[in-house]
Amino acid sequence: MRKILLVEDEINVVSFIKKGLSEENFEVSVALDGLTGFRMALEGNFDLIILDIMLPDKNGIEVCRDLRSQSISAPILFLTALNTADNVAVGLNSGADDYLVKPFKFIELLARVNALLRRGAGQIFEAAKKPNIYQFSNLKVDDDAKTVERNGENISLTATEYRLLLALIRNKGKVLSRLDLLESAWDINFNLGTNVVDVYINYLRKKLDSNFEPKLIHTVIGMGYILKEA
Ligand code: CA
Repeated sequence: MRKILLVEDEINVVSFIKKGLSEENFEVSVALDGLTGFRMALEGNFDLIILDIMLPDKNGIEVCRDLRSQSISAPILFLTALNTADNVAVGLNSGADDYLVKPFKFIELLARVNALLRRGAGQIFEAAKKPNIYQFSNLKVDDDAKTVERNGENISLTATEYRLLLALIRNKGKVLSRLDLLESAWDINFNLGTNVVDVYINYLRKKLDSNFEPKLIHTVIGMGYILKEA
């Protein structure tokens, strides 16, 4: 029987994953914090590790990095609560093999688990090989290289500005509320007012729209923001 270690602090996610994987005949061990997970992974000889990123005591990225430095080569699947470019890039750089963004369907998790077990340990995250490029008008966002170009000109953004732009371009032509943007670009655990979104939209506009045509970032009064051509 294949042994899986699940390191996750949200009880409902734990029971959802554990139940599903047990029904698929995996033997699932659970750690509810990062430090316990790290210790169990060192000792347990697991075939695969499912690792949440936001964990008490030791975050998933640190756990992953330390396991790799201890030569633990079991495939690691990250769970991330937010679709933030940062988390994923840092996570994959720390030695994880794949990641899944919450919320996900069990069938998606199972597919990743089976693919990782088939590929075996230490493989490079496959999706990283296919280009992750978003293009709109003369704006180009390369989510692999984390670069932004407007009209062929490189635009340097901070991590928050970048995440904000990524949310906009992934949803181009769609109005996103300030709350949508807040959840996409900031850690939802931070208690920020939505006016921080307006501040960062202004930063983004200065860098992205003020010197270029057409203007792409538009305010929808009373609703939020949209990426579209005027
Ligand atoms: Ca968590």
